[in-house]
Amino acid sequence: MRRTTLLPSRRGILAGAALTALPSALLSATRAEAGPRTVDHPGAAWRPASRGNYTPSNRPRAHPLHYVVIHVAQTTYGGTLSVFRDPRTKVSAHYVLRSSDGRVAQCVRESDIAWHAGNWDYNTRSIGIEHEGWVDRPGYFTDVMYERSARLTAEICRRYDIPRNRAHIIGHHEVPGSDHTDPGRHWDWKRYLRLVESA
Ligand SMILES: [Zn+2]
Repeated sequence: MRRTTLLPSRRGILAGAALTALPSALLSATRAEAGPRTVDHPGAAWRPASRGNYTPSNRPRAHPLHYVVIHVAQTTYGGTLSVFRDPRTKVSAHYVLRSSDGRVAQCVRESDIAWHAGNWDYNTRSIGIEHEGWVDRPGYFTDVMYERSARLTAEICRRYDIPRNRAHIIGHHEVPGSDHTDPGRHWDWKRYLRLVESA
């Protein structure tokens, strides 16, 4: 009881002391960290995955990033988000793209390890991007989704110095040991890479 009543005022005093001592540039950084979680991709909506569906980390320090892994979700945008929110599913990806308007949701911070590749080594070294739709329904792969996704991938490559080529921007089916087929034969890699290069 005593501890709990004392703690808030003590913390208040300490924070006050720190505020007067810190230069203003540091101050704004401190405030940003204390606020609600920010996204890594500007404009993305923060739709967090369950804490039971990813591994906290401090990448790229803990693990350098080498790959962007492209997925097709085999369900809708909303369906994907609810799968990631459900702690029983044990799956997640960093981002989900919506077909109709290219909306980007971020579900796991890039510093953390999402469970998307089905291969621990690749999970630790990659960012996973899910796309609303099905591998055999190319109508879901809209222009706006390609464009927004390519912009996102280009930014990730820039941030972590990942080469913008097919050796580093890979499909889920190319992850060793994967039994998944996504993004499938309708995914236009040539177009996607061209968009990533020009973004
Ligand atoms: Zn996949």
